[in-house]
Amino acid sequence: MSLLEVKNLKVHFPVKQGVFSRVHAHVKAVDEVTLSVGVAETVGLVGESGCGKTTLGRAIIRLVEPTAGRVLFEGEDLTQLRGSALRSRRRKFQMVFQDPYGSLNPRMTVGQIIAEALDIHRLVDGAPARQQRVAELLRAVGLDPGHAQRYPHEFSGGQRQRIGIARALAVEPRLIVCDEPVSALDVSVQAQIINLLQDLQEQRGIAYLFIAHDLAVVEHISRRVLVMYLGKLVETADARGIIHAPKHPYTQALISAVPVVDPASKRRRIVLPGDVPSPIDPPSGCPFHPRCPVAEARCRVEVPLLREVSPGHWAACHLA
Ligand code: SF4
Repeated sequence: MSLLEVKNLKVHFPVKQGVFSRVHAHVKAVDEVTLSVGVAETVGLVGESGCGKTTLGRAIIRLVEPTAGRVLFEGEDLTQLRGSALRSRRRKFQMVFQDPYGSLNPRMTVGQIIAEALDIHRLVDGAPARQQRVAELLRAVGLDPGHAQRYPHEFSGGQRQRIGIARALAVEPRLIVCDEPVSALDVSVQAQIINLLQDLQEQRGIAYLFIAHDLAVVEHISRRVLVMYLGKLVETADARGIIHAPKHPYTQALISAVPVVDPASKRRRIVLPGDVPSPIDPPSGCPFHPRCPVAEARCRVEVPLLREVSPGHWAACHLA
């Protein structure tokens, strides 16, 4: 059984207009998404800004209320939980945010930030045990336990992301949704954080849903990769299949933008025309057709379904 199974998840935000704030349309941020994450598995989720990745990650851990669909965590449907039942399950899934500074309370010391989750879930008894656990967590993410008395502004970006990871680890989660955790960091620091996440996964058996727009990073850390466009999954496969044999024209364009080290490589950059269309009124047929370099007449009217085009490799394209 998968650790996490998401079935036909939708997150539609109402758009209100006029003096009576009537709902006149919906932003389809996430539309009929189905995915799974196994125990201690890393699944990468990629796509351009505004494609719905972050909303999907937040809906999975119920920071955003889903409109429809199911989120099964260890077989239990999280969408049916409310109040204390949901709070008690929150221990098992955490989130690491893109902006490590914005997500840490600047008025709290690092020790207080990490201990907050321990106190909410009553995981330690008394001040000495709390202090000891905070020290253990700081050591686990490569920081000095003496840093517990300092404030977030005293740390570098990479160190702040380590604090965010220590806070997530405090409740011993089984799944962490990592929302662009390295995109705000320098390249050398990115590698250190990725290595840290991999080490922690090995030691603690944590699964990650790793959201990013940088395919090179996603290939490095993920076993499987999901590609999202306008709120829908358009391709899923193992990381190798996505990077080296992408089937969907959108994925092919994303891959073509990844810098290549080998000067002899013949990879040609595919530049997509226009911007991502509005999710309020997505294009008919295949939502990618206005930007697709190989679109045909039927792409304007027929919606391509996500289908298995080779073993374990799924794509939503008539031509795949
Ligand atoms: Fe392009 Fe048509 Fe495939 Fe959509 S279905 S990605 S428009 S070829």
